Amino acid sequence: MSRVVVAGGGIIGLCTAYYLKKSGHDVLIIDRGDLKSGTSFGNAGYVSPSHFIPLASPGIIAKGMKWMMSSSSPFYIKPRLNIDLIRWGLTFWKRSSRSTMERNIPHLDALLQLSRALTSEIRDELGDNFRMKEIGCLMLYKSLATEHHEIELAKEAAALNIDTQVLNLQELQAMEPEVELNVRGGVLYPIDCHLHPGDLMQSITDYLKNNGVEFALNTNIIGFEKGNKTIVGIVTDKGVFRGDEYVLATGSWLPIVSKQLGIDILMQAGKGYSMTFENVKKNLHYPAILVDDRVAMTPMGADLRMGGTMEISGIGSPLLMKRVKSIFAAAKNYYPNLPVEFPEQDKIWYGLRPLSPDGLPYIGRHSAYNNLILSGGHAMLGISLAAATGKLVEEIVGHKKTSIDIAAFNVER
Ligand SMILES: Cc1cc2nc3c(=O)[nH]c(=O)nc-3n(C[C@H](O)[C@H](O)[C@H](O)COP(=O)(O)OP(=O)(O)OC[C@H]3O[C@@H](n4cnc5c(N)ncnc54)[C@H](O)[C@@H]3O)c2cc1C
Repeated sequence: MSRVVVAGGGIIGLCTAYYLKKSGHDVLIIDRGDLKSGTSFGNAGYVSPSHFIPLASPGIIAKGMKWMMSSSSPFYIKPRLNIDLIRWGLTFWKRSSRSTMERNIPHLDALLQLSRALTSEIRDELGDNFRMKEIGCLMLYKSLATEHHEIELAKEAAALNIDTQVLNLQELQAMEPEVELNVRGGVLYPIDCHLHPGDLMQSITDYLKNNGVEFALNTNIIGFEKGNKTIVGIVTDKGVFRGDEYVLATGSWLPIVSKQLGIDILMQAGKGYSMTFENVKKNLHYPAILVDDRVAMTPMGADLRMGGTMEISGIGSPLLMKRVKSIFAAAKNYYPNLPVEFPEQDKIWYGLRPLSPDGLPYIGRHSAYNNLILSGGHAMLGISLAAATGKLVEEIVGHKKTSIDIAAFNVER
């Protein structure tokens, strides 16, 4: 068995360590934070096979351009002369064709389905510590155009054997007895589930610590020691850490970390915000995406989280309050009597989705080194895809046949 160093303790790094440990490897996780506030922590917590359409898809660019015109829309690219952004944008544009999307859907679907099943297995093994509910997710719409689009998507889902139920307002209202709904209708994807991502991370971390996985937290990776086509050690501000195999799972920072190995990864950070309301008196029963406004609503036990926006404005860009307010306004528009008030600014969370330019993650070995595996670019699906990604990385480390074909996730594509 190998000693594996996992760089990054977001949900991808943690799930990777989980499967590596279970198959007998020694594992060390290095993270520059404390795993209690990052992108994997404050997101909407959906595990959603319903999201089988990759981000790069026909029509997305036209829609994005339209949204760019409004300062309160759910999408924004900060215009800047940045070569990485330009390269990413051009690749995204090329990969948004119907033929590429259609080629990618079965691969994303296979990864989502595997991950959905494994997430339930993790819950069965670790216990129900992370508020997981397997009741599906609603796609709610207000406009006729969005209704048509969602019903078309439901037909595409049927082709992948994903069940859906198209519901009218009366049927939806019966499912949400505590809050008034102001929508035209919706589609339920019963296969989806939701959970509290911070509690999931804590539960996996506890398991890992109890089973001998080492953690080097508050430890910043600043470089690598390299031999002939081999990584010899990870250099951090707390010293050098060594292993037989190295997995890079540093989320939106994957390009920065891999650049130190001479490896170029195309990725942009997609900022999103969330607000969490505790002990909501009249709470939602079902998680829902408010499709016209791209807002995600997730009941998490007695709490309620709402989140959204996609801002491609670089790492370290400021919080844009107008867009955060739009998330809240959309929630109040769909659920007029929701008993929540707009929070203080210090209660607003944001995270950076690691966006590959085709909407598929990077999972696999890199040919530049014989002991390097990259795992990142999970975009808006990191929680949905983490379990399968962790399992696949364990299989790659162990030179096993992978559970699904991983050619589409090639890290050098
Ligand atoms: C608003 C919002 C809602 C979302 N909702 C959902 C959802 O409902 N379902 C879903 O599936 N996904 C969702 N996502 C996406 C999901 O959160 C991400 O895909 C996922 O968290 C990415 O996980 P990761 O482990 O790759 O990256 P991260 O969670 O960002 O982890 C990377 C880690 O690497 C560490 N790191 C980086 N650089 C260094 C360094 N130099 N040295 C040491 N450590 C380093 C960081 O500290 C970090 O802890 C949402 C995202 C946002 C923003």
